[in-house]
Amino acid sequence: MKYDVIVAGAGPAGSAAARECAHLGLSVLCLEEHGTIGYPVQCAGLLSNAAFFECRVLSERSVFNKVTGARVISGAGSELLIDAKKTMGVVVDRGTLDREMAEAAADAGAEFRLRTALYDVRKNVVLTRGVNGHEEIGFDILIAADGPRSTVARLSGLERAQTYLAGIQVDMPGVCDPRYVRIYPDASPEFFGWVIPTGPGRIRVGMCGRSQVKERFSLFARKFGTSMTQFVTGTLPLGVMKRTYKDRTLFVGDAAGFPKPTSGGGIYTGVRSARHAAAVAAHACEQGRYDDTVLAGYERLWQEDFGRELEIGYRLFEMRQKMSVDDTDALVRALNTPSIVRTIEEYGDMDRPGAMIKKLLLNPAILRLVRPLMQAGLHSLF
Ligand SMILES: Cc1cc2nc3c(=O)[nH]c(=O)nc-3n(C[C@H](O)[C@H](O)[C@H](O)COP(=O)(O)OP(=O)(O)OC[C@H]3O[C@@H](n4cnc5c(N)ncnc54)[C@H](O)[C@@H]3O)c2cc1C
Repeated sequence: MKYDVIVAGAGPAGSAAARECAHLGLSVLCLEEHGTIGYPVQCAGLLSNAAFFECRVLSERSVFNKVTGARVISGAGSELLIDAKKTMGVVVDRGTLDREMAEAAADAGAEFRLRTALYDVRKNVVLTRGVNGHEEIGFDILIAADGPRSTVARLSGLERAQTYLAGIQVDMPGVCDPRYVRIYPDASPEFFGWVIPTGPGRIRVGMCGRSQVKERFSLFARKFGTSMTQFVTGTLPLGVMKRTYKDRTLFVGDAAGFPKPTSGGGIYTGVRSARHAAAVAAHACEQGRYDDTVLAGYERLWQEDFGRELEIGYRLFEMRQKMSVDDTDALVRALNTPSIVRTIEEYGDMDRPGAMIKKLLLNPAILRLVRPLMQAGLHSLF
């Protein structure tokens, strides 16, 4: 048994890769260790319009709610409201979205094998165990879309993402203006907490962080209630692995560490990386060449697409590590002027925040606040 491409993992990145490979005429098998695609959910389900569009699903079946902006609330109580007054993003049910993406890939001709885990790779053969017992399946190109704990990345011996955050989230009854996501920067000193309106009378409360996440989350979530209908834990890899290809293998999505270090969102970059990987896989198969020189084309594609944004994002993430409760409060207050709010509403882009950050840094009041926290070199990226 042999395929042009094997995709490990049927998350958004895996299904996008499988769909694109099939569309490009390759034989493709997608392996998923779970019996149900999209389960367990490990996501807040907040997607920019662009990220949702990138998923290329034909329906809005997965959409719970549409948001127009965000309310940022500092630990000291200062608030900043950003309202673009038009839909800026959607809140989705990841289970439904993931299944729709897999269905689209299957419709395009990709084969899926569920409850089948890849556990080893030997040259151009993957070893799996699952519904069909132990199998050895051949490939020309392997696309590793097996998420933050990627088995393929571990087996490759490549250096992994720079930082891993832990995330906890619950769905609960609660009241929240359905137009706005609420961001609590001080709920977690290393990242932030969130409250997302998922529908009338329902909210999603979560946070990501590096340390004491369970304890901090309990304190944070208690403010909103104690009754919960869904409990989610997950891992967020930040800071892309140093090399995203090796030995016929291309790493995409969380397996490569592609989530955005500013927001933790990984769908946009994950799905776009998957399409770049599929294009390079098709080129390699057409040429019959699977060496690293050909695969390096993948790294060039994603670097050109969103590499700089991820680099800026990681520098900002490092800056965030140095911010105290007073710093975040001062920043929220400094941002809360009509002209800055207008700039954010106009240029804010969840997926590509670089342009907006550049504009904000031109403001002397903002620059004065963040300059002492900035790593040398952030400026050089603009
Ligand atoms: C708490 C939290 C909240 C988040 N909120 C958001 C958000 O609001 N918006 C956003 O854009 N992103 C969010 N993210 C990030 C987002 O969930 C990920 O970036 C996204 O799921 C990555 O997609 P992926 O396909 O790369 O990996 P995954 O979605 O993790 O999919 C990997 C798949 O591979 C399968 N798999 C793993 N190992 C194997 C194996 N050995 N063999 C076969 N199959 C395997 C897994 O079962 C899984 O189905 C959040 C993350 C966390 C932790």
